[in-house]
Amino acid sequence: MIYTSFLIKYAEIAIKGKNRYVFEDALLKQIRFALKNVEGDFEVNKTQGRVHVECLSEYDYDEVVAALSRVFGITGICPVVHVEDEGFDKLAEDVIKYIDDEYPDKNKTFKVNCRRARKNYPMDSQEVNMEMGGRILDAYPEMKVDVHDPDILLTIEIRDEKIYIYSKVIEGPGGMPVGTGGKAMLLLSGGIDSPVAGYMIAKRGVRIDAVYFHAPPYTSERARQKVVDLARYVARYAGPINLHVINFTDIQLEIYEKCPHDELTIIMRRYMMRIAEHIAKENNCLGLITGESLGQVASQTMQSLAATNEVCTIPVYRPLIGFDKNEIIRISEKIDTYETSILPYEDCCTIFVAKHPVTKPNINIIKRSETRLADTIDDLFRKAIETDEVIVVS
Ligand code: ATP
Ligand code: MG
Repeated sequence: MIYTSFLIKYAEIAIKGKNRYVFEDALLKQIRFALKNVEGDFEVNKTQGRVHVECLSEYDYDEVVAALSRVFGITGICPVVHVEDEGFDKLAEDVIKYIDDEYPDKNKTFKVNCRRARKNYPMDSQEVNMEMGGRILDAYPEMKVDVHDPDILLTIEIRDEKIYIYSKVIEGPGGMPVGTGGKAMLLLSGGIDSPVAGYMIAKRGVRIDAVYFHAPPYTSERARQKVVDLARYVARYAGPINLHVINFTDIQLEIYEKCPHDELTIIMRRYMMRIAEHIAKENNCLGLITGESLGQVASQTMQSLAATNEVCTIPVYRPLIGFDKNEIIRISEKIDTYETSILPYEDCCTIFVAKHPVTKPNINIIKRSETRLADTIDDLFRKAIETDEVIVVS
């Protein structure tokens, strides 16, 4: 079957009242962006309150559907066949052929749903529904009409130039178009969780920047490349990501030397949050995003999160907070990050790790331990920020 266009369905953004056009424009922009890397000529337009992707040249169907399936805000993608208006008899022939191509198995119920955008069509919608239903039953006696819950809802949309026929809906990713919700800074490690966390916040319309802390020579170039690769997968949904790579080695060594080892992870995470917040503010990000999930490891108990959170002045979004690991893995598989995440390269958190980290840190004790860093930490903090290397990932 050759489809000439795709009708884009969107739900949530349609209810935004006066702001509707802002959301629709963002959606159009994101669709155009997604189709940039797909071979073929496409025109994305909004006419009569509906968004269409018109295919102006040959294209690969699977590639187009895959690209559209990553645009947040889309709830459904309907492949559409266009036919000329050459009278009702010809239209009935076209519809009967369409059904034959789309549904080799005719043992199905259907309903005809005519939409008349062009009001001077000689039949009204109801007449088209009735008459077309009859023609379909004549052609395929196995089929049955069901107006309440049909297997096939066959839409015939009579437009100014052409008539559109469609019935299939491919599920979209939902959410809101990226760019309608400000920007946030993702703390992106090489693990399974943080790419999923970034995906989930982007799904709510938020643009993403990211920060990765590495500790050369304790962490390798391959570990860093893995994070760049993960950012690229997230960018397929979130759009281009500015990935800030920060050298964290000296801060980590200093903490390791001066602070109690069972508090290392918490103190290290507090410094990660402080640096991430600094970079976030410099880049107009309104929040931080982490892949933390309650109880997953020692540093993600309520007490540990309270200690980590205490250094932040902007909101920290933890979209995975109530998720089990297998639920997170399922999403990582869906967005294709899983295989990369499980590559076994070392992470700076795993290198300087205590055998028995505190699981219920007391903020006052942690703060007292941090005073041991007083002479050096401001300088190390500033130097770490100077190492900021920005990689634009798209
Ligand atoms: P992930 O699977 O995302 O690595 P994790 O289960 O390994 O998470 P932690 O190592 O405790 O959890 O880290 C918690 C969160 O802190 C991560 O989800 C991420 O947002 C952030 N984080 C940890 N290490 C780094 C790092 N090296 N660079 C940037 N952010 C990090
Ligand atoms: Mg990790």
